[in-house]
Amino acid sequence: MADEFKFSWAYLGDVKLGRENLGENMPVFVYRLFEYTMREAISNRFGNEVSVDLLRDAGRIAGSNLYEHFLSDIKDESECLAAFQKLLADTKIGILRIESIDDDGRIVVTVSEDLDCSGLPVTGETVCFYDEGFIAGVLTGLYKKEYTAEEIDCWAKGDRVCRFIAKVKDPE
Ligand SMILES: [Zn+2]
Repeated sequence: MADEFKFSWAYLGDVKLGRENLGENMPVFVYRLFEYTMREAISNRFGNEVSVDLLRDAGRIAGSNLYEHFLSDIKDESECLAAFQKLLADTKIGILRIESIDDDGRIVVTVSEDLDCSGLPVTGETVCFYDEGFIAGVLTGLYKKEYTAEEIDCWAKGDRVCRFIAKVKDPE
């Protein structure tokens, strides 16, 4: 086995070719089954905190690759955000709304009908760590500054939408 695995868009394959009868879509629970069993597997081996970190890292890799694949040709920032919003709706990931963009780069967004959490049992804790990384990855690509995102409201916390605060990462 190679020492390293690096994701590339090519790994997603030609779904149309490979699934000529079953097609490109599948139920949301399949995605969630993958996500939350993966979290348990990581948690069993490395602890819950690492599971959260790794989901966030994976989301960031997804977000930056998605930006490169679909959005990086759009140079205008607001056009790019609009295209991101449309992409999330078209692919049924969720309904993104931009609540505010401050001069210091702080951005507040909401996602409703979120792929990861809408309809989950309310546990009082946020669960969209993958989305935190995903949003940060896209914004990092768009603004060419490293972003972090934190989910403050989540269906699993009892809210109707997920709300994320994204900020330019503090220089260390
Ligand atoms: Zn959430």
